Amino acid sequence: TKSVGVIGAGIGGLALSIRLANQGFKVTIFEKNSYPGGKLSELNMNGFRFDKGPSLFTMPELIDELTNLQGSSHKFEYQKLKVITNYFYSDGTQLKASANVEEFASEIHLKLNENKETVLKHIKRNAFYFKTTEDLFLKQSLHQLKNFINLKTVKGILFAPFLGLFSTMHKKNEKTFSNPKTVQLFNRFATYNGSNPYQAPALINMISHLEFNLGAYLPKKGMHQITTHLVKLAEEANVEIKYNTTVETLNVESNNRIASIKGNGVSYPFDIVASDIDIHALYKYLLPNSFTPKKLIKQEKSSSAYVFYWGINKEFASLGLHNILFSDDYKKEFDYLFSKQYPTEDPTIYINITSKYCKDDAPEGCENWFVMVNVPHNKSESINYAEAIRKNVVDKINMMLKTDIEKYIISESTLNPIDIENQTSSLGGSLYGNSSNNKFAAFLRHANFSSSIKNLFLVGGSVHPGGGIPLCLFSAKIASQIIVEQEMK
Ligand code: FAD
Repeated sequence: TKSVGVIGAGIGGLALSIRLANQGFKVTIFEKNSYPGGKLSELNMNGFRFDKGPSLFTMPELIDELTNLQGSSHKFEYQKLKVITNYFYSDGTQLKASANVEEFASEIHLKLNENKETVLKHIKRNAFYFKTTEDLFLKQSLHQLKNFINLKTVKGILFAPFLGLFSTMHKKNEKTFSNPKTVQLFNRFATYNGSNPYQAPALINMISHLEFNLGAYLPKKGMHQITTHLVKLAEEANVEIKYNTTVETLNVESNNRIASIKGNGVSYPFDIVASDIDIHALYKYLLPNSFTPKKLIKQEKSSSAYVFYWGINKEFASLGLHNILFSDDYKKEFDYLFSKQYPTEDPTIYINITSKYCKDDAPEGCENWFVMVNVPHNKSESINYAEAIRKNVVDKINMMLKTDIEKYIISESTLNPIDIENQTSSLGGSLYGNSSNNKFAAFLRHANFSSSIKNLFLVGGSVHPGGGIPLCLFSAKIASQIIVEQEMK
């Protein structure tokens, strides 16, 4: 039996471990925190429970696939949302994005006076974008020659120029829709991987396909159940998880193979090593004397987040699970995010309230508010906008929801880009690894294997195919296939 050492118990590391254990490898995960999940962890505070990071869940079948892989009896229950998002604009316009695309298009027609057929056509086109490119960009390595000789890949490559690789999301959406509010709504999907709709290629519009055509979901006990479920599967498959164990170095020998992992001062020999940590941390701290792929490392990072976790002792009937309070000037918001590197005074605010579905997440009559603003990934020693951002968020919520929110906050905690970096090792707290602002971004992510160290493999948000839960799960699937092919020979 070959042994595998995995660095990091994030979603990618857990999924890879489950896959490899089911292929007969002996897997040990090293996790520096006392808890699993990395960005997908939870916070319990004065009777309120919060999902600390991700809140939008798409492609649940990727988790089911892991459960079924080992025929586990551990149940992972989730429900499909009927209403996906409540949108609020500052002039008082409100609309509900139904999971039923016909209803959604009618609502856009009614509230934003947009042609219903145009909306339906846009959503269909994004499905086509997705289906034409998923095999090329998401489901296989972009770094193995053999993958470029199959038909599906060739189709993806041939179509790519026609799929909006050479126009921006904003330009495409501005051409498609007549009302700037509709453009803003569809531009928002760039933020799902921390990118800028005014720079990212129109192809990124396909992200909305996941939500509108495939559906948005919520696990029965909230997002953190994804982590607890994967841990159960891993343990059931005899994966050992060593918590509170920071990997300090990887011992690379002259034959260009890693012989051992050094964690908390102890060396552990392994046949194969896999990293689920940000590639910057991997090369800078764990492999300081090895070849570093500088071009990939210096790509622009995705945005980060500033999050307020508020225990609220009131229920807001106008809000649902996912709520967006839009800024008035979206272009300015992204200019600030990616050029000025400072959050604007009028940010778009996202409020997620799992207690709308999971009653145990807040005491009776209360709600658990996860309030998030996109902020630049951090390049400085401290966050110098903490006070300003709280004031701007409170003022905007008061204005748009006609309330005095301070009166109802009975518990508070925050998460800023420095906390995210400290807790997960992601450079500057970026949420999704590299941004997709560059049209060649897909080709400028790190491969799922190292080109110089023969037994090193990579998963997680900073490598191919990118960040976000589904993509991290795809990275684990691709890496496990490569490991099985290469190491089982
Ligand atoms: P990570 O979560 O980055 O975990 C890496 C792990 O490695 C950590 O546990 C860390 O402690 C450990 N580690 C690091 N260095 C070492 C070391 N030297 N030794 C041992 N262990 C180490 N995605 C979505 O799909 N939908 C969303 O709605 C969404 N919203 C988000 C909101 C926020 C606020 C955040 C923070 C993220 C969000 N994401 C969302 C992104 C998603 O959370 C990530 O893409 C995904 O969870 C990253 O998983 P990963 O496998 O890259 O590992």
